[in-house]
Amino acid sequence: MIIVMSNVATEEQIESVIKRIEEKGLEASVSRGTERTVIGAIGDERSLDPELLESLPGVEQALHIVKPYKIVAREWHKEDTVIDIQGNLIGGKQIQIISGPCSVETPDQMEKSAKAVKAAGVRLMRGGAFKPRTSPYTFQGTGVEGLEMFRKAADKEGLPIVTELMDARQLDTFMKYKVDVIQIGTRSMQNFELLKEVGKVNVPVILKRGMSATISEWLMAAEYIAAGGNHNIIFCERGIRTFETYYRNVLDVTAIPVLKKETHLPVIVDPSHAGGKAWMVAALSRAAIAAGADGLLVEMHPNPCEAWCDADQAINPQELISLMGELRGIAKVIGREIL
Ligand code: PEP
Ligand code: MN
Repeated sequence: MIIVMSNVATEEQIESVIKRIEEKGLEASVSRGTERTVIGAIGDERSLDPELLESLPGVEQALHIVKPYKIVAREWHKEDTVIDIQGNLIGGKQIQIISGPCSVETPDQMEKSAKAVKAAGVRLMRGGAFKPRTSPYTFQGTGVEGLEMFRKAADKEGLPIVTELMDARQLDTFMKYKVDVIQIGTRSMQNFELLKEVGKVNVPVILKRGMSATISEWLMAAEYIAAGGNHNIIFCERGIRTFETYYRNVLDVTAIPVLKKETHLPVIVDPSHAGGKAWMVAALSRAAIAAGADGLLVEMHPNPCEAWCDADQAINPQELISLMGELRGIAKVIGREIL
């Protein structure tokens, strides 16, 4: 860390900063310039809080020089991490598409969905049993019963399941139903207690980006999970809030190469919650794969007009088939593959 002292800082103030640094077990290297003094803190600077140092008299600015995140940072782990979900790899050469309805509704809807997922050549299935809804008066998900329906329908087609966890109290139930990937939704990205809990289990996690989260906040959220011991984390860009109201969110395509640079973990994109309309899904999916995403999370419903949740953004089974064809072509051009 670098601590820049104010140009009127006294010798006493400089000494007190040095003392703080040394108390934390770091070494202080003092550079006295003609204008001002700059102090370098050498050692594991993560134990130093820049805000605390900036509150000391005579300090103008304190700046970290290494990243505040560690386990998830590419700086510490150069190679891409490939996550194995029941034999389906994500983060390597292969691009994985995950598809299914927004929410688990009925056994029949789940059976049709699983068949459509399988028929399109998609290898992983999504579906929310516990739904984070803006209004408490709308459908809240089918809950544990939904998990049961989901597991049954997916097992019939041999598909691993991805579903959202909103409450750590449901974690044991998720284990009981052998949820293959735990999804942490945009509204929970900074629920640090929930992140700590999923950090303790040995199940891959999809961490969606908070709707107004910066890249750094998102990486720090992943670090919470990783710090608990669970390093199988997949980032999912799902659109961010901006001033634009034409579409539900703005797909931040820029986040894809930025995250690929900052972390060794896989990065996927949810084109459905980004655009919020079924007709935008194909275009946003193509953009995401072309920009380097390792996969997609796409909402598909056997009968979109009758979906209980997010009906206008669900594509139908036929659209999923044609989307897969297009994506295979793009994957090939960029030296990747969709099996
Ligand atoms: C979802 O994928 O079902 C969902 C609720 O998405 P998000 O958390 O991105 O809004
Ligand atoms: Mn949805």
